[in-house]
Amino acid sequence: MSVSKQLKALVQLQKVDKEIDRLEELNEKIPNQIGEEEKRLADLEEELEELKQQRLELMKKRDSREVDVKGFEEKVEDKKAKKFSVNSQQEFNSINQEIINLNQKIETASEEYLVLDEEIDRVQDEIREQTVLVQEAEGEVEKFKAERQKQLEKNEEKLEKLREKRKSAREKVKEADEDLLNKYDRVRKKRQQAVVPITEHACGGCYSRIPAQRINEVREMNKIYTCESCSRILYWGGKDDQE
Ligand SMILES: [Zn+2]
Repeated sequence: MSVSKQLKALVQLQKVDKEIDRLEELNEKIPNQIGEEEKRLADLEEELEELKQQRLELMKKRDSREVDVKGFEEKVEDKKAKKFSVNSQQEFNSINQEIINLNQKIETASEEYLVLDEEIDRVQDEIREQTVLVQEAEGEVEKFKAERQKQLEKNEEKLEKLREKRKSAREKVKEADEDLLNKYDRVRKKRQQAVVPITEHACGGCYSRIPAQRINEVREMNKIYTCESCSRILYWGGKDDQE
């Protein structure tokens, strides 16, 4: 196989390898992306649960104020009944004072009851809003997951074909020169790009200047040359050959 054809085969192999890398990288990211979306939904659900818990505690408090009021009212009734069986003015006055005190407690507890009731209404509104947010997020996350799953499968299909393509591309290079294929693999492991064109008198990978003599040699294509700085395999990147 001519050097020109070997270089073409290498460039072709690299193209396939790069596309495989790109798709594999995309697919590797997908589980994380789905995880992030699920986390977002879980956070919203947690906030909703906290609000519900808050509402429950407020209701308990409010209900206990109601119990307090009933208790105080019963005591007032007791005291009122006792007023008729007292023996002295002093005792009568003392019972009256107790009734006044109890009525004050009733007033305070009733006010607290109303304040708590309003707070419950406010939390109730927040719960309603948060529920909408959760429902929206549920829909979005489901859609996102379905899309990503589809993307993943599509990429896998492409990858399957590309891996077949790579196999035959590697075979082609190997048949021509096994050492060249090994060199390609070695450089690619370190540099990702293993075959690069000469552009503007420089290596297309590391941009080191290539001497004119070497450029001529690369152009003549009697042999395969590599960049002396980065070891990448060079090909002539003149207008005719550029990708
Ligand atoms: Zn270089």
